[in-house]
Amino acid sequence: MIRERAYPVDPWHIRETRLDLDLLAQSESVFALSNGHIGIRGNLDEGEPHGLPGTYLNSFYELRPLPYAEAGYGFPESGQTMVNVTNAKLMRLLVDDEPFDVRYGELRSHERVLDLRAGTLERNVEWVSPSGQAIRVRTVRLVSFTQRSVVAILYEVEPLDGDARLILQSELVANEQLPPMSKDPRVAAVLDHPLQAEEVLEQSTGGLLVHRTKASDLRMAAAMEHLVEAPGKHAVTTEGHPDWLRTTVACKLEPGQKLRVVKIAAYGWSSHRSLPAVRDQVGAALASARLDGWEGLVEAQREYLDAFWDHSDVRVEGDPEVQQAVRFGLFHTLQAGARAEQRPIGSKGLSGPGYDGHTFWDAETFVLPALTYTQPHAAADVLRWRHSTLDLARERAQTLGLQGAAFPWRTIRGQECSAYWPAGTAGFHIGADIADAVRRYVQATGDYDFEREVGLELLVETARLWRSLGHHDRHGRFHIDGVTGPDEYTAVVNDNIYTNLMAQQNLVTAADAAKRHPDLARKLGVDDEETASWRDAAAAVHIPYDRELGVHQQSEGFTRLQEWDFENTPPEAYPLLLNYPYFDLYRKQVVKQADLVMAMYIRGDAFTPQEKARNFAYYDARTVRDSSLSACIQAVMAAETGHLELAHDYLGEAALMDLHDLHQNSRDGLHIASLAGTWISLVAGLGGMRDFNGQLSFAPRLPSRINALDFSLLWRGLRLRVNVTADEVTYSLRNGGGSARLVLLHHGKEVEVTQVKPVTVPIPPAPHTGPAPTQPSGRAPVRRATS
Ligand code: BGC
Repeated sequence: MIRERAYPVDPWHIRETRLDLDLLAQSESVFALSNGHIGIRGNLDEGEPHGLPGTYLNSFYELRPLPYAEAGYGFPESGQTMVNVTNAKLMRLLVDDEPFDVRYGELRSHERVLDLRAGTLERNVEWVSPSGQAIRVRTVRLVSFTQRSVVAILYEVEPLDGDARLILQSELVANEQLPPMSKDPRVAAVLDHPLQAEEVLEQSTGGLLVHRTKASDLRMAAAMEHLVEAPGKHAVTTEGHPDWLRTTVACKLEPGQKLRVVKIAAYGWSSHRSLPAVRDQVGAALASARLDGWEGLVEAQREYLDAFWDHSDVRVEGDPEVQQAVRFGLFHTLQAGARAEQRPIGSKGLSGPGYDGHTFWDAETFVLPALTYTQPHAAADVLRWRHSTLDLARERAQTLGLQGAAFPWRTIRGQECSAYWPAGTAGFHIGADIADAVRRYVQATGDYDFEREVGLELLVETARLWRSLGHHDRHGRFHIDGVTGPDEYTAVVNDNIYTNLMAQQNLVTAADAAKRHPDLARKLGVDDEETASWRDAAAAVHIPYDRELGVHQQSEGFTRLQEWDFENTPPEAYPLLLNYPYFDLYRKQVVKQADLVMAMYIRGDAFTPQEKARNFAYYDARTVRDSSLSACIQAVMAAETGHLELAHDYLGEAALMDLHDLHQNSRDGLHIASLAGTWISLVAGLGGMRDFNGQLSFAPRLPSRINALDFSLLWRGLRLRVNVTADEVTYSLRNGGGSARLVLLHHGKEVEVTQVKPVTVPIPPAPHTGPAPTQPSGRAPVRRATS
């Protein structure tokens, strides 16, 4: 865990001023660069020492058999694991024969800076070799947002005290050796030599390697090229081998002279295209990057980010740590999704191998809200990707004896890859989460073409799943039995409220969409009888309630279960999943992550304020937050139930998940859901934003330490800005011209905003709330008001 503040607080930068080799793997995740297409971990340029080397291409995976002690019908047979592909970051330096390696000699100074506005990672180092030669190295790298196949690195080195002979070896390396796998189920399987060489091509200043995976049969090419500037005599040569390619620059420099090398690398991959086609693709990417040159790439990167921040930035006054973290979170959310382009967003983005690179409901439920309101095209692309996997989801439903589509709990390519049913396929709610993301996107954008092309079919097939998975009992109540809700410590249960309410919304949204597009719906085989059966099921959904305690039951019978003995659970026993058998977790009242509390946020229209307050207090006292998906949602419900300081505490936890390595596993990649969830905590939590039934509404209120909160949203093409202070809120439109108007609800009252007329309205006094909810012993979040 990063115990002390590893990165000084700074609104736009993540700065590392000291190299701690024990924390290398964490910082490699924090400093990972990606555009959603390609991802590179923040490994040191010279490759060693490293925590975990990593270069990833979206949806480039290998298959591996899933081990079962006892297999059962319908268990997936094969898993998918993201491949650590050919490494193009490697640039080894030799100074008068001695390798530049920070473990030897003297590291006089070290700094790495992730610049959130420039979209670059810069490193500045002064190092003295064991034999006394001092050098200064500056490197800057980027993964281009504007040219999605391109990675570029600037490498500058100069001797400081005397003449030096410098050899720079810039490489492409396939099949790097990875550290052995741990027992933690959240880390990735380690593949041994996943890439088979197909072609190597060396040219004077670069070249290319083409490889193929054995079982998944995917082909990838990596190419590189160098632009070298050296003051005097220098030599550039390239040599190749099936698994590596090396361009060597040799020169002699005097103090004051500098070697400057720009490395441009490009990646291409495909399951269909021929070797020449993939080879040509990377050749073209290099040519295109060369056209812009280093300066051009840097400039385009900044312009792209200027536009992003202009309409997506969230400003938080009063808590600089959260300010930095929310920008860090938004930056990585963008990196995960910006150019994913009809490929999935993994739970770690492309920042590390955790969870084998799989996508989960994290994408639709946590990442897509932030993207829908800031980068809607990226949200649409993720849903288009889901749509492209519909046939597999239909097949899966069929295997399970169900109708419609059963989307996989975790996957890269669309097949179910979870080998553990209770926290895998039983998480059927993923279907409703996808449907909810469709609903949200169409509602926020008014993009009915998308609804016709993609949305309707997703809604229909997921609705069909619910109709066949659930059943009406003899009193007509509709039940969904044997499923797992978000809380994975309570598995295979009946009538999980989150699942039931999300299914209810899914059924109604599908019926409404079918009504809007009758011809298309008919083509999908939907008739009036079917939509009527969806509406009937939705109207009759069972919601378990404990009358005696006056709270909802997360699932039928939950409040009757034995209480977990939190008092006698030591801090080191968390996360419980690594220290207690599931059997014990399943039969007690211990909640891994927001579940009913999540339902009260997303389906807040289904609960009264009193129910929300009582339920929140009950479940907060039993929620241990062993999942990073929890704190952000608890922040939202703490805010809605009037516990603003607690909301701030949870917001802090969500925001600092990776910068402070709170779950002690950031080494395997960032927690993208929590990073995007920080946006949710601020916008839906402190801003009180909801979008029930197509009505945009806000109920902002700030905790004592936050003096101002400012965010922007895209709503049907209009850029709405919301500026919150302790007493009042200003709503303004940033585009749309004179005729544009937006009617929103502010604490339940209608407010009309136009571009010419921003509206400032007071925040009504907070209603009286009872004492703040408590948490399980030792699990309270860090208090922000006093931290
Ligand atoms: C959580 C899931 C989540 C997965 C990937 C698990 O620990 O319980 O809700 O989807 O991690 O982030």
